[in-house]
Amino acid sequence: MHKLSDFFRCVNYYAGESGRDLRNLDGSPLTDNDRQRLFIAEINEIYVSPLLIPKLVLVKEAFRAHNIGLVIKDGFRSLELYKMIIEMRRRKGQQVEGIISTDRFPHATGLAVDVTLFDLSTGKDIWNRDEVKDGEGSRFLNFYQSATDEIGRNFHRIQILMQEIFGRSDMVAGQLNEVWHWELSGINEKTPRC
Ligand SMILES: [Zn+2]
Repeated sequence: MHKLSDFFRCVNYYAGESGRDLRNLDGSPLTDNDRQRLFIAEINEIYVSPLLIPKLVLVKEAFRAHNIGLVIKDGFRSLELYKMIIEMRRRKGQQVEGIISTDRFPHATGLAVDVTLFDLSTGKDIWNRDEVKDGEGSRFLNFYQSATDEIGRNFHRIQILMQEIFGRSDMVAGQLNEVWHWELSGINEKTPRC
């Protein structure tokens, strides 16, 4: 496994089990946007299979050509961590089905990443959905394909660009079709390879 922060801008979070006192690893508080995104219990480092590194380097370069930066938010996740997250969500009465895979564990292969994008000039996040306004359905690709407003159309354009760029590296959205999750095409999800 390769530590991704050697190659990419990575964001690591620590969230206490209570979920209340959320902070970045350096102790700084999370922004509201970060809070909306966060559902992982604890991530100290982000790793992926070495197989994925050259593909992600190509992805990063392709986004750079559009003045877009790539942030890797999550990579390898052990089966134990998957189970812990699922258990924790169930204990808190939070939704699990449709949110986290319970029958396939793509991150346990080391061949899947969760990403966000940012503007290389301003450093600001580039959003491809507005979950607060549009609800949980906006987590999934093509939600905005028939949007008529400029913001919705722009979200869709960014999603299309992501599909193109990841697709060139033989990466596809996962089974849940979440807009942030990209994995190597055809991975045997149930067999951790790390
Ligand atoms: Zn994912």
